[in-house]
Amino acid sequence: MRLSSKSAIYDASAVESLDTLYAMAGLVRNPRGLSSPGSSRARSGGVAPEELRPARPAVRRAANGVEWLPIPGWDLPWLCCGFSTRKGGLSRAYCPEAAPGELNLGLTAADSRPTVLGNRRLLAEAITGNAATPVLALKQFHSNLVVDAGKADADRATPRRADGQITCDPDLLLAVQTADCIPVLVADRRQRIVAAFHAGWRGTVKRIVETGVGRMRLLYGSRPGDLMAAIGPGAAACCYAVGEEVLAEFESQFHYARELFHEVFASDPIKTRYPMLFLTQRAPGHSPIGPSLHADLVEANRRQLLDSGLMPSAIQVVGGCTQCQGDLFFSHRASQGHAGRMMAVIGMRGAGKRRSR
Ligand SMILES: [Zn+2]
Repeated sequence: MRLSSKSAIYDASAVESLDTLYAMAGLVRNPRGLSSPGSSRARSGGVAPEELRPARPAVRRAANGVEWLPIPGWDLPWLCCGFSTRKGGLSRAYCPEAAPGELNLGLTAADSRPTVLGNRRLLAEAITGNAATPVLALKQFHSNLVVDAGKADADRATPRRADGQITCDPDLLLAVQTADCIPVLVADRRQRIVAAFHAGWRGTVKRIVETGVGRMRLLYGSRPGDLMAAIGPGAAACCYAVGEEVLAEFESQFHYARELFHEVFASDPIKTRYPMLFLTQRAPGHSPIGPSLHADLVEANRRQLLDSGLMPSAIQVVGGCTQCQGDLFFSHRASQGHAGRMMAVIGMRGAGKRRSR
């Protein structure tokens, strides 16, 4: 086999002898991918996944063992809200036998209904101080349908079909379930209205958050300047690889679509150091070594909140990646579909409530 001079420099043994030469001269060769990432990005426009990884969010542990994510700066006395993690709880369905129970909040096929309902009571207790606070879940279907919810919904036998809900009623927790999709919570400080939205890529393309804020304005007269929003953990740009068709869908809807996508190079150290082992005869762009396209749904939803008129300072990004922080979160993708569900919840305490419809 003839090697071109270009491919010869990637030969593993050649790299090793180069390292030996450097060592003899008292030098250390920077490993590929670390030496001059700027130059490789400049050539390709790509980034390493580490550069897109969000910070690990701060976790609060409740007295009942539930570990959840509070929203920084949202310590208003009338507001109860937060994002669950997988930690705490009673579920045995998604963990090894010896591990402590987990907080699966979705009525999944693998888990039992009493266990999940028990977990929802634990979450309600952790967030509101009262395990009996009704948790209103939805039957989510990646739509932009947003419903007006209230006390009467607590007595429903089956959840409503929607991907967002709004309420002015206190002593309820509105919930959306996620295991990679992005949860978004919104509160109207002046009117005391709260809302929860579920935004996967399909819901994001359908503008679930812009639609939801529009519903808050229409139903309750909410003013964007009075709104604050929190974007919870989901599959972040470090991990959320998508096909070209997803980019095409976003480009059909958003003038800023290109800003939401990154070309990401694999960070597999074996592939990075020994690319010859993975060379194929496939055409350029069809090899597993090439970049993959990653979508940033957190930024996509932040843009929708800004376009809805919220102040940048009123939007909190809580952080976390469900796909690569598996000790903290359930991930549908990371566990090939065998995953529990987390919940984002928001509600209001009854005392001090002054608004009437
Ligand atoms: Zn990640």
